Amino acid sequence: MTETSIPAAHVTSKVTPAEETQSNLLGAADIRRIAAEAGISPTKKLGQNFVIDPGTVRKIVRESGIGSDDLVLEVGPGLGSLTLGILEVGAHLTAVEIDPPLAARLPSTVSEYNRDGANRLNIVNQDALLLQDTNLPAEYGTTDFTLVANLPYNVATPILLTLLERFPHLTRFLVMVQKEVADRLVASPGTKIYGTPSAKLAWYGTAKRAGTIGRNVFWPAPNVDSALVLFTRDKAEARDTNSRASVFDLIDAAFQQRRKTLHAALRQRVGDQAYALSGIDPTRRGETLGIDEFMRLNAAAGRAGE
Ligand code: SAM
Repeated sequence: MTETSIPAAHVTSKVTPAEETQSNLLGAADIRRIAAEAGISPTKKLGQNFVIDPGTVRKIVRESGIGSDDLVLEVGPGLGSLTLGILEVGAHLTAVEIDPPLAARLPSTVSEYNRDGANRLNIVNQDALLLQDTNLPAEYGTTDFTLVANLPYNVATPILLTLLERFPHLTRFLVMVQKEVADRLVASPGTKIYGTPSAKLAWYGTAKRAGTIGRNVFWPAPNVDSALVLFTRDKAEARDTNSRASVFDLIDAAFQQRRKTLHAALRQRVGDQAYALSGIDPTRRGETLGIDEFMRLNAAAGRAGE
């Protein structure tokens, strides 16, 4: 594609100051041009739906609360829509992308739209589920950082839980996910959609919904609605990391048979004494227990030697 096919909004010398700010971000024509130039066609398998609306990008960045010099992680930068939004506010960013052609194209897109931002960006071509601290700059092991991402919808929950487990300095996140997944992540005990992701995320901290996003801000448009989830991690001392694995096993077991009472579902793991010690009624169902109750029951089962 030639220079002349670049949309007018990107030719900064011909636009007003307000439009000039807008031109740092990608619109529909920019996305199509970059994809065509790089020979990229979005794949469903990797959840590739690219944001084509600068307003949506700015909303995500605003809701995340990040600002100048903050340390940020993005999973799945794709063609760079949100990447440019994060860099626009002056943050330092590492973007982790699984798809080699997308990771390879990103530096030139960022240099083209935000030259200064390119100096604050580090790109890692990697599956986020396999990300280790050795893949990230050393400061991610010492400094609190925020995850800001439009997550691949089919693996959003595993990515969040894996990153929270591996990176203690991941203290906040603002992510866009499928609306139903967002509802599950923030669900309260006793509701129909409360499940293992809700209980496990609550172990780490507090999640809340931060708005819904329509389908027409993406290319290609997905066949599901999207929503934002804002999460803040509890202070490190609030949770005993040593017992996390056993609490999570207990949660998995309780929800494997969610219609059964705790007594029936956890027969192999929790005896009568643990219910007495924890003060939790064994005739309740697992889906009614908050994370503090799961932790209490787990600790009581440990004390009772079960
Ligand atoms: N952030 C871009 C945007 O908002 O336009 C793209 C978001 S798109 C919904 C999801 C992105 O995640 C794609 O670029 C996809 O290739 C990438 N992705 C999918 N699975 C991944 C994984 N396991 N680890 C890292 N990136 C992944």
